[in-house]
Amino acid sequence: MSSGPPAPTFQDALGRPLGDLRLSVTDRCNFRCRYCMPREKFGPEHQFLPRAELLSFEELAHFVRLFRGQLSKVRLTGGEPLLRKDLPALVRLLKRDTGLPLALTTNGVLLPRFAAELADAGLDRLTVSLDALDEAVFRRVTDADYGVSDVLSGLAAAERAGFSRVKVNCVVRRGHNESEVVALARHFRGSGHVLRFIEYMDVGSTNGWSAADVVSAAEIVALIDRELPLEPVERALPTDVAARYRYRDGSGEVGVIASVTQPFCGSCSRLRLSADGQLYTCLFATSGTDVRGPLRSGASDDELVDLVRQLWERRVDRYSEQRTQLVMPRRRLEMSYLGG
Ligand code: SF4
Repeated sequence: MSSGPPAPTFQDALGRPLGDLRLSVTDRCNFRCRYCMPREKFGPEHQFLPRAELLSFEELAHFVRLFRGQLSKVRLTGGEPLLRKDLPALVRLLKRDTGLPLALTTNGVLLPRFAAELADAGLDRLTVSLDALDEAVFRRVTDADYGVSDVLSGLAAAERAGFSRVKVNCVVRRGHNESEVVALARHFRGSGHVLRFIEYMDVGSTNGWSAADVVSAAEIVALIDRELPLEPVERALPTDVAARYRYRDGSGEVGVIASVTQPFCGSCSRLRLSADGQLYTCLFATSGTDVRGPLRSGASDDELVDLVRQLWERRVDRYSEQRTQLVMPRRRLEMSYLGG
């Protein structure tokens, strides 16, 4: 890793610095969650990105290296990122070339195969999605050939590999899995992992989102508090998206991400890069900026940095804050493509 002077921080048009980079490494997934990749839309005939269109590991590392002075963290997402061949090799390369904290969001079922390798490659943090503990609810939500025990085995493999305080994310959707909130809280209380509930969002165009489907963070906290009394905890960083609560009996913490009812666009510092090399400045963006073309046609590092600087400096996205004022519908990109 070469050391140069630290790059000046890019600020967007609303004064928000660039801080986090989320790399989607594949648009494929081995689940078909109803809210993300419903099987009717992502069936056998669905055309996933051809391999030649994916950024190679070298291209990804080249890109991230240019911004290592700007970034506080890189998160690998998908689709399901562990479906990308040799993902630990990318982790190793990014760690070696950038030294940045690296996190991975996964559905967890491939962790028994990869957790040790990921730890060895230098992955720092893991987030595992788990929307239900009840087998029937889990299978209805995920619509795949995996069960709850596959995810729990993945978590156990992560622990054995040395990952502590794994974030366990649950998207709560009314009528689908709000019955699971307390069961999940009980299960992960005292486990050392941090359970986080996420309000159901209108990402993409295929999940038929309606505001009535949202179980608010306040409602989620009340559901838990009734059974397992909670008290609020200060956010560690202003950019943390989860509001934190701890169990009054000292058995750990739970987080809620109120993306719909209390949007956090004001501190949003995330830049997203899709698997095919398009940059997006918001999860709800409708169009991206191509970096694969410039990367492959020999653009200089200065040209690539300028491209991102200009994109970031023009950024005015604050979709979640404006959600109720925007005229619907607008065609949005799918989360499986952009990363959640
Ligand atoms: S809506 Fe866009 S700008 Fe607001 S928090 Fe989400 S990604 Fe960031």
